[in-house]
This record gives sequence, C-alpha cells and structure tokens, in this order.
Amino acid sequence: MGADASSARHHQVLIVGGGSAGLTVAAQLLRARPGLDVAILEPSSVHEYQSGWIPAGAGLLPIEQTHRPEASVIPAGARWIQDSAARFDPAAQRLITAAGDQLSYDALVVAMGLQLNWSRIKGLPEALGSHGIVSNYSHAHIAATWAAIRGFQGGTALFTHPATPIKCGGAPQKVMYLADDIFQATSGVGVNTRVIFCTAMAQLYPVKAYNATVKRVASRRGIETRLLHNLIEVRPEEQVAVFEVSAEGQPPHTEEIPFDLLHVVPPMAAPDVVARSPLAIEGQGGWVEVNKLTCQHKRFADVFALGDVSSLPTSKSLAAVRGQAPVLVANLLAKLDGQPLLSRYDGYTACPLITGFGSVVMAEFDYDLKPVSSFLVDPTKERWSMWLVETRVFPWIYWHRVLKGRLHEAPALKPFAPLVRWLGLALRQE
Ligand SMILES: Cc1cc2nc3c(=O)[nH]c(=O)nc-3n(C[C@H](O)[C@H](O)[C@H](O)COP(=O)(O)OP(=O)(O)OC[C@H]3O[C@@H](n4cnc5c(N)ncnc54)[C@H](O)[C@@H]3O)c2cc1C
Repeated sequence: MGADASSARHHQVLIVGGGSAGLTVAAQLLRARPGLDVAILEPSSVHEYQSGWIPAGAGLLPIEQTHRPEASVIPAGARWIQDSAARFDPAAQRLITAAGDQLSYDALVVAMGLQLNWSRIKGLPEALGSHGIVSNYSHAHIAATWAAIRGFQGGTALFTHPATPIKCGGAPQKVMYLADDIFQATSGVGVNTRVIFCTAMAQLYPVKAYNATVKRVASRRGIETRLLHNLIEVRPEEQVAVFEVSAEGQPPHTEEIPFDLLHVVPPMAAPDVVARSPLAIEGQGGWVEVNKLTCQHKRFADVFALGDVSSLPTSKSLAAVRGQAPVLVANLLAKLDGQPLLSRYDGYTACPLITGFGSVVMAEFDYDLKPVSSFLVDPTKERWSMWLVETRVFPWIYWHRVLKGRLHEAPALKPFAPLVRWLGLALRQE
C-alpha cells in the first residue's frame, strides 16, 4: 500500500474529517468514555462554522465568528493528525494518508463532508468573483458576494440551485430573500429589478408544508421561480447564464438568461477519494453506504459514517449531524463492546429558512418528510423568535455545546425546563 512500517499507527477509533460531524462525534465519544484512543485525521488548520456563512454574508454575524483554528476545537483527549485520507482499505481495517502513512483502527468514522464541483459549470471557476457572478458557498467569496448585493444598481438578479444533493437545501433561497430586502430598501433598485430563482428541482422545497410557505414568500416578494432549470454554463463577458431545462415528456433544451447579478450554488458530490473507494456504492452518488437507522456501514461492520458524506437519505445539514452523532456514538461503542447496535436515527434534519431580515421558518423534518418542531410551535410559520434563535442562539450553541459533545445531554438542560416551557407558550402567541 506504499506505507512503510515505521509510519504505521493504530487507533481504537479513527475519525476521518475534523469538520462539524467528526468533531461532534469525537467529543461525544470522549465524554462517554474518557481514555478512549480517538484520532482525528483532518488536513485543514481552520475549522469552519458553515451555517454562519449566510448570516455573516449579510452582516448579521461577524465573519471572524464563522471560523476558528482547528487546534482550538479538537476535543481534549483526542489526537489530531494533520493529513488527509488518500485511500481506504476497509477489508484490512486501514487507510493510507496523502503523506503515505498507514493508519489502522478498531472502528472508523467517515465524516469528510462533500466536495463542491465548481468546474461542472462551464466558465464558472474563472468567472467567480467577476462580472456580477458571486457565491456565498465559498468562504473566500462571502464578503465580495454581499458587497455585490449591496452595491447592486438594478436589473436582473438570478439565484440558482443545482441538480445534485446539496448541504443546507434552503441556503440558496436564504441569500436571495436577504438580497431582495436590500434591493427593496435601496432607492430605485427594487422597482428596477427582476429577481429570478432558477432551481433544477421540481419544487422550491422538498417538504410539502414548507414548500407552501416558501411559495407564499416568493410570490409576496414578486420573485419569479423557474423550476427544472439547471445552470450548466456562464458566459461572463456577455453576462449570460445557460440553463438546461427539463420539461415533462420532452427532451431537455437549453435556455439563456441575461443577468446583472448571478448568485451560484455549485453542484456537489461525495469526495472523489470516497466515491472511488470500496466504502461507496457504485452508481449511487459515491456516498458512504450506511444503514439509515444505525449509521453503520452496510458491508464493513467496523465502519460508520455521518454528515454530508454519508448515504443517510435525509437533507444534508448541521442539524442532521446533531441528530446522527449520538446514535452513531452509542452504536460504535456497542460495536467495540461486542453488544447489539440498538440506537436508531429517525432522519431528523433542519434548515432554518431565513425569509427576510427578522424572519425565519425553522424547517425541521424527518425521514417521512413530516414537519417536526423542537420548539413546541408550528414550524411552518415565519417567526421573529426563530430569527433570534438562528442568528444569536445557534452560533453560541455550536461552539459551546455541539463541538463540546454536550448538546444531547438532557440533564444539563433540565434546570432550563421552566424557561423552555414559558418560551413555548410565548412563541405560540407570536
Ligand atoms: C452556505 C452554507 C449554509 C449552511 N447553513 C446551514 C444551516 O443554516 N443549518 C444547518 O443545519 N446546516 C447548514 N449548512 C450545512 C452544514 O454546514 C453541513 O451540513 C455540515 O457542516 C456537515 O458537517 P460535515 O462534518 O459532514 O462536513 P464538514 O463540516 O464540511 O466537514 C468535513 C471535514 O472533512 C475534511 N476533509 C475533507 N477531505 C478530507 C480527507 N481526504 N481526509 C481527511 N479529512 C478531509 C474537511 O477539511 C472538513 O473539515 C450550511 C452549509 C453551507 C455551505
């Protein structure tokens, strides 16, 4: 496998990826079993709080609060290996890193996120950041994206949603609703502007109840929605976007739409190193093939996966990671102990849909696409309280509870139960 014996190491639990999912699992494992030998393989020296990118892009959260040094978020007791997985060999319970080291394990957790395929859109990689072409899906472009939106002088503003699974299915719309508020507030721009949402999907949102809400929001704002429109090319000099349009019963055709501002959400996919490994199922997206209830790999019993890289058939989000991590941790510990895997994930996920400055639909749902609410209120309504939760409470919870592996610890929240009950009653009046 190309690694020499001196660079071979073994860990009880090896976690690949020190992003939101990998760190959450590491922290929960070590809280449950201090002294467990846990290593995190993560190449980046910076940890990103991606859920903060849209609020940060709108000036609602200082951009510095969306990232921290990776070293500062590695849980105490875990070992950080700053390298990346280059090849998986699950039959031999080992992997090879980019530096050529061999790492073996008793249990492997794959938490590598997904890859953004900017180059799948012809002309995009060279054009991003120029000619009004922007994206909040790239940390490097957040500040420029918002500057372009604030400085927009009117015309056609296009916002896109690709044909692939994406992280945070609502984010492409969140940025548009915030931008539309800015256009309306800027003298002359709102009346001289067409806002168009081009989505490759057949509906605005996959959950019926939330789809009805966002349809109302888009129509109230006068936003044109074009379904089954998949962005395939940009021609920056001409400021033209080319879409492949599917229409029922007809072969796809292309449509060109001129723009003055274009916010692109790129196609996304499983990381190549996973997709070409035995961990993935060929022809099914390249995601790590896990049991949807236990997070355990379907063919390699000592492998688990969660988060964006997993095949778990729910919307990819940080909220989903919060639901998956305790299940994975309980089952992984059971596996190490030779016990049956009893913990079950119900598909819980959420995407707080920012529908404008001061309002959020806390879109939570499960595998059955049934709306659920952690806040004891009708989750389909736009709410100011959920805006506060999204922009003020969630960032704190992320750094201080989620990454510390403490979110799911009910006893720690018990003293707040009367406050939560009071809040529930107050929110119902909203
Ligand atoms: C603009 C935007 C807005 C969002 N808004 C929300 C929201 O409001 N609510 C919500 O719940 N979710 C939101 N999300 C989604 C959420 O951020 C992700 O679903 C979440 O980060 C997934 O966690 P993860 O650990 O699976 O992936 P990540 O957090 O992306 O972590 C993956 C890690 O794996 C590492 N890695 C990659 N390749 C390798 C390799 N070969 N070897 C080792 N390590 C590797 C990466 O460096 C990274 O640190 C948003 C995302 C974006 C981009």
